[in-house]
Amino acid sequence: MPRLPVTFTRRTLLGTLAATTAGLALVAALAAPTAGLAQAAGEAGTPADVPAAAVPVRVVASFSILGDLVKQVGGPLVAVDLLVGPNADMHAFQPSPADSKKLAGAKLVVINGLGLEGWVERMTKASGYTGPVVVAAKGLKPIAKPKDSDHGHGHGHDHDHGKDDPHAWQSVANVKLYVGNIRDGLTAVDPANKATYAANADAYLKQLDALERDIVAAFEGVPKDMRTVITAHQAFRYYGAAYGITFRAAKGVTEDSEPSAREIADLIKLIKKEKVRALFVENISNRRLLDRIAKETDAKVGGTLFSDALSEPSGAAPTYVDMMRANTKALADALKG
Ligand SMILES: [Zn+2]
Repeated sequence: MPRLPVTFTRRTLLGTLAATTAGLALVAALAAPTAGLAQAAGEAGTPADVPAAAVPVRVVASFSILGDLVKQVGGPLVAVDLLVGPNADMHAFQPSPADSKKLAGAKLVVINGLGLEGWVERMTKASGYTGPVVVAAKGLKPIAKPKDSDHGHGHGHDHDHGKDDPHAWQSVANVKLYVGNIRDGLTAVDPANKATYAANADAYLKQLDALERDIVAAFEGVPKDMRTVITAHQAFRYYGAAYGITFRAAKGVTEDSEPSAREIADLIKLIKKEKVRALFVENISNRRLLDRIAKETDAKVGGTLFSDALSEPSGAAPTYVDMMRANTKALADALKG
C-alpha cells in the first residue's frame, strides 16, 4: 500500500483557527477525488461545512516511530502530532507546558510503554487529558535491560524506568503487535471507521511480513561466529534476538563522549577477543582513533544505525520500514564486507 500523506505538525493541537483550517483543508483535498468534496485546499470553510467523517482523529504519539505506525493504520482519517520529533532524543525528553497542550486537543494518545515514557502519567494529569492511552508494546515479551546500564546508554537511562528494555520496535514481530494495538485503539475512539483501520492494518502487516523476510535473507551466509558488532547506543537487543546478531557495548563508547586512549586500547582488545566485525560508533569522530582501530583489528567502522528516531522526510529513514531496511543494509554490508 502506498504511504498516505497525513498532516504531521508539531503545532499545538488546541490550536488556532488557522491550524484547524489547515488540517481540514488537507482532508478536503485528500477526500476530494473520491468523496466529491467541492472544497479545494485553502478554501475549506468552517468545521460545520465539512462532513463529520472528514474531520481527522487527533492522535498524539510520543515519538516519531510510533507516529509513523499510527499514520500507516489511520491514513487520512488521523492527524498525528508528535511529542519527540525525527532525529530527536527520546530518552532526554521532558514534557513542557506546550507539550501538555497538545494532549488537551487529542482523542487518543499512543505511547511505547516498557518504561520509555516515565513522564506520561504526570503529563496527562497536567493537561487534563482524560481519553484513552494506547500502550503500543502491550502484550509483548520484554527483554530485560542489561545489568550494567551505564555501559553504552549514557544519560538516557536516567529517564527510563523499570527493568525492561524499551527498544522493542527493533523487532518487526513486536511491531506487528504494536500495529494491532494501535488499530484497536483507533477503532475504539472512531468505531465508524473500523473497517478502514482493519484494512489499513492488514495491508501494513503484509509489508511487515515482507520486511521480516528481507531482514532474515540479508544475513544469510554470514557465519554464526561472525555476527558481532559494537554500538554506541545499546538499543538493538531486540533486533539481535530476532535476527541472530550480537550487539556489544564497550566501556567508554557511549553516545555522549569520546573514549579515552585507555578505553580505545581496551576496545581493541575486546574486538580481537570477541571477533567483532564492525563498529557503529558515530560518537568517535577522532580520525586518529578510528585509524588505529582499523589498523590493529579486522573490524570495520560502519555507518549510522537508527535506534530511537526516524530521520527527516528527506533522510534515509523517514518511515519505520525505511529505518529497518537502512539498519539492515548497514549491518549486512559491514558483516559481509
Ligand atoms: Zn534508546
